[in-house]
Amino acid sequence: MKEILGFAVVLLAIPGLMAAVASGDSPQGAAQKADLGKWAIHDLDRPLPPVIDPGPAGPSGPVPSDAIVLFDGKGLTQWEDGKGEPVKWKVEGGYMEVVAKTGSIRTKKGFGDCQLHIEWATPSVVSGEGQERGNSGVFLMDIYEVQVLDSYNNRTYADGQAAAIYGQHPPLANASRKPGEWQAYDIIFHGPRFDADSQLVEPARMTVFHNGVLVQDNAELTGPTAHKARPPYKAHADRLPLSLQDHGNPIRYRNIWLREL
Ligand code: MG
Repeated sequence: MKEILGFAVVLLAIPGLMAAVASGDSPQGAAQKADLGKWAIHDLDRPLPPVIDPGPAGPSGPVPSDAIVLFDGKGLTQWEDGKGEPVKWKVEGGYMEVVAKTGSIRTKKGFGDCQLHIEWATPSVVSGEGQERGNSGVFLMDIYEVQVLDSYNNRTYADGQAAAIYGQHPPLANASRKPGEWQAYDIIFHGPRFDADSQLVEPARMTVFHNGVLVQDNAELTGPTAHKARPPYKAHADRLPLSLQDHGNPIRYRNIWLREL
């Protein structure tokens, strides 16, 4: 009993650790939360991650035999727009391209925990600055966005650059290729868990590789991603569509596949 009390006193002396233990956070999760708490959303003073060269773009990556292929360059039969209507984005040359103002698109089928591979390219002719340059997004469950942006020599807020979990976690490195070059995200996503009373039991988590470089390391999401807001979790289904954002810029996507976990 004495030892247990002693242990409790040590823990009480370290409030951060005590809070982490109480909330069930891993030390890494607790550190990440503390870091997030330091910065307002889209804070321009938040440090930008180091810029690194991920190496040249290769050919489109291989598809594992057990993957669900969501786009193979030919058709958009597995996708619909926000109203459930056929997608109006362009399909040509083995890729799809956002057609501005036709709206974001989503898979007809819903997915939960998954490994997702998706390749994308921003326009080779650069136009706009910051969030207006090559903006789109990959939304897991139509709610949790990994930002797509031309972040090659294009300053914006750290939590809104390419491979950021939008408004929450900047990437660990800026592994962007030049505009027009093909890039890839490999995302391991675990959706949030809710109990029978719709209370959050487990937050969503994401690990992301950008052009093969680890940029999100089991990052814990605070809730849905949003512009200028960090809204709390709201209970939702176990499976929801994957969606791609129309932010008005002609972003291209190809070779999209997913493995359910
Ligand atoms: Mg976006």
